[in-house]
Parts: sequence; structure tokens; C-alpha cells
Amino acid sequence: MIDFSNLTIKKTKELYQSGELSARELVSHYQDEIKKKNPELNIYRETFDNAFEDAEKIDLKIKHGDTPRALEGIPFAIKDNILIKGKPAGASSKILEGYTASYDSTVIKKMREEGAIFLGRTNMDEFAMGSSTENSAYGVTKNPHDTTRVPGGSSGGSAAAVAADLALASLGSDTGGSIRQPAAFCGVVGLKPTYGSVSRSGLIAMASSLDQIGPLTPTVEDAEIIFDVIKGKDELDSTNLETEFPSGNSVSSAVCTIGVPKEYFSLSEGGMGGLDSDTAKKIMEAIDFLKSKNFEIKEVSLPSVKYALSAYYIIMPAEASSNLARFDGMRYGPREDGKNLFEVYTKTRENGFGLEPRRRIILGAYVLSAGYYDAYYGRAQKVRQLIRGDFENEFNNVDLILTPTTPHPAFKIGEKANDPLSMYLEDVYTVPVNLAGVPAISVPFGSVSREGKNLPVGVQLIAPWFKENRLFEVGKILEGLKS
Ligand code: GLN
Repeated sequence: MIDFSNLTIKKTKELYQSGELSARELVSHYQDEIKKKNPELNIYRETFDNAFEDAEKIDLKIKHGDTPRALEGIPFAIKDNILIKGKPAGASSKILEGYTASYDSTVIKKMREEGAIFLGRTNMDEFAMGSSTENSAYGVTKNPHDTTRVPGGSSGGSAAAVAADLALASLGSDTGGSIRQPAAFCGVVGLKPTYGSVSRSGLIAMASSLDQIGPLTPTVEDAEIIFDVIKGKDELDSTNLETEFPSGNSVSSAVCTIGVPKEYFSLSEGGMGGLDSDTAKKIMEAIDFLKSKNFEIKEVSLPSVKYALSAYYIIMPAEASSNLARFDGMRYGPREDGKNLFEVYTKTRENGFGLEPRRRIILGAYVLSAGYYDAYYGRAQKVRQLIRGDFENEFNNVDLILTPTTPHPAFKIGEKANDPLSMYLEDVYTVPVNLAGVPAISVPFGSVSREGKNLPVGVQLIAPWFKENRLFEVGKILEGLKS
């Protein structure tokens, strides 16, 4: 009997090769599970009928003895803001209802060429704005570990799909934490790659200088395999950088120094505060474990990260308000009637956008307006430089930085839905990474108990630009201890 809940990319490919499992069987398994669990969990917005046909074609190739490609027959769930040619894509917003993608995003194209199968599109916070999926226009997704709790967001559907065994792996996007935070809440691995390492072509943009696509997976090795497929130069994204990625393991435990920023743990002046004591205990356990593996642990300081959220909530809405200007009923989605063009625009946007995108459009338009631009946007960009500088500085002293991914485990559905500020605080540990553009991974590290349920905790590892290989190296060691 195959234990479907324990599959990895490597194991699945081995089972295909030995003939113990076929891609059709695996796709059917997920489709059956989705039928059973999705009505309650609301993870998928839609499943794709052609997944089974794609699996048939892959089985033929395998039978024929073709050399297996990197993702041969691996079934994926895809966040609803990543375009797949011929499929609806809507960023879980009513304003995109009925829109069908006319091209493949670069990541999808690359994965397709490596044999990936796409099972369906997953629920998310509208336009990736949120930390709980409660901002979706299509209902909240529930956390598979406790259905009274949120799965995190905005890639909540993608994280829950992997956690609930409704896909082997998934893709999400991360602007301020949207891959890592739901990965932590759902007990899966989530990678936010270096800004510029994965093409954004075909990603419905939120804040273009921060957005990156990345994988959510059962293991660190799976994240590495997918990253190797999706990374690299793409002419369709001008911010995509041509870089030599170091391959193999450039750090070994004998030489690796891991920094722990004191601001993440301090409640006093200069600290970021809010770290729940059970979560802190788990993070300390992770640190002790790495010490026992001969890593040198050093306290480091990132003095400007305490301003990260403030800078993010200026820069992100500024960029989002510009990006969302294109949704006016002319090219995408439903169009409302009006007496004149202005009325068509306003009615379409009023009916199409939910509360959170509206809030951010107004905020963004304000901070970019004449007379305020320098005071808000200009200053926030300066703070961003300081944060970048903090990381640059400490990466002269340490190879990696370790922090909690989130201040606490998954919260209750409804707990923060009406309090935007407390929702924004959810991103306190993840946002600095996006502002600096460095890569980071969230690796599950045990759980804490709440009301009789075990809720996963995530450890965040942060590496210097383009040094994802260090995240994989230490991430694998960390997940070796399933506490
Ligand atoms: N939760 C954050 C926000 O609401 C981050 C979102 C994201 O990374 N897409 O902006």
C-alpha cells in the first residue's frame, strides 16, 4: 500500500519508474480527496478536468522508457494569481470574474516543460492582500490542522492544499510573507526566492518591487527541485537577473555561522515584540538543535527592521494602487453600465473590488499624490535602503539568519478580520526579507498545543542574495528533527 500522505517528488518518481504507481492513479487520488475535503476546507477555487489526460500522456512516456524530467507527473496546485493558458485566473477577486488567461506565466511554462501536472487553482486573499485568506471574494479557506482557524495568507489555499494532501506541492506568491506565513501555519515548507531570481511574467501583480513566486512543499528537497526548475533569466521580466546560482553545498556545518537577530525576540524598546512564549520555546529548541549539529550561533542586530512594516505599508499600497489601475472593466472581467466613461469605471471598480484592495488603492493613491510623494514614498524607500544595509552588514558576519516565521501559531477565523492593523502585524517577521530582496524559507519545526489541537510552528531561515543553496542545506538538517 502506498502512503499517499508521505509522498515527495523523488519518492513519486521512483514509484513511477518501478511501476508501483502511475500518474493517473496519483491524479485520481488527489481528485477523490479534493471531492471529499474541498467542500469543507475551500482550498481549491476550481479543479482542471484535463489533469487526468495530462497524466495519461505522462504514463505513456514513462512506459516508453523516456528519461524522466525534473517534475515528471508531479501534480501541483496553483495560486489563483498565476496564469495558466486557457484557464480562468482571478486573484480571488470579483473584478476578474470570467477572465481566462491567454498565455502561460513563465513559471508554468517551465514546469510544464519538465512534466508537471496542474490539478487546479487555489483560493487566496483578494489580489494577495491579507494574511488569512479571509479577504477572498470566495470565502475563507480553513486550516487542515484545525478547521476553526485560518490557514494564513495570502497563499492560504496553496499551503492548505499541501497540508491536507490535496496536491503534492503548490505555487504561491510572496510580497510580504504570503508564502512563508501560510507555510508556517499549515506545517509545510515555503520558499520566497531572491527578488529577481524567478520571473514574474504571468503573475497578477500586487507590488512589483516585492512580489516573487515560490514553491510550497512537503520537504525542503522538494522546494529545491522546484526552485531549480522555475529560477533563471527571463526576457519577459525586466527585473529578472542573470546570475550564476551557486550549486551544491557551499556551507558545511563545520564553517557555518547562524545569526539570531535580537530585535525579533525583544519586547523592549527597539524590539519587534509580540512573540508568543510557546512559539519562542520552539524556536529556541531549533537553535539548540543546530548548536548540537555544530553550527555556531551568534547574536546579530538588524536595527532598522522595526521600521519594516511602516515602510512596507507605504511602498506596497503605492505600487498596488498603480498595478490595480488596469482593472477598469475595459479589458478584464465584468463591466458595469454607466451614463459616461467615468461612471463605468467607478461602478465597475466599486462593485469589483473588495474592502481590502479598496483600502490599499486609496492609501497608495494618497502617498503618491503631489506634495506627499517625498514625505511618504520617498522616505519609505530610504528606510528600505537602511533595512537592506542591515542585512548586508550582518551577512559579513554570519552565513544565515534564523528567526521565527510568525509571532504565533494560526489564529481563529474571524479573530482579526475586522481589525486591519492587527492583521498587518502578522507580517512583522517576514516583511523585512521582501524589502531587502533576500531569499528566505519557512521550515516546519514541531507544534504547539491550543485547545487540544497541535498547531505547526515555522522557523524562518534567511540567506544573502542568490544563496538559496544555504537555505536548503540548513533547512534539510532542521527538518531532520521532527519534534
Ligand atoms: N500579508 C501581507 C499583506 O497583506 C503580505 C501579502 C503578500 O505577501 N502577498 O500585504
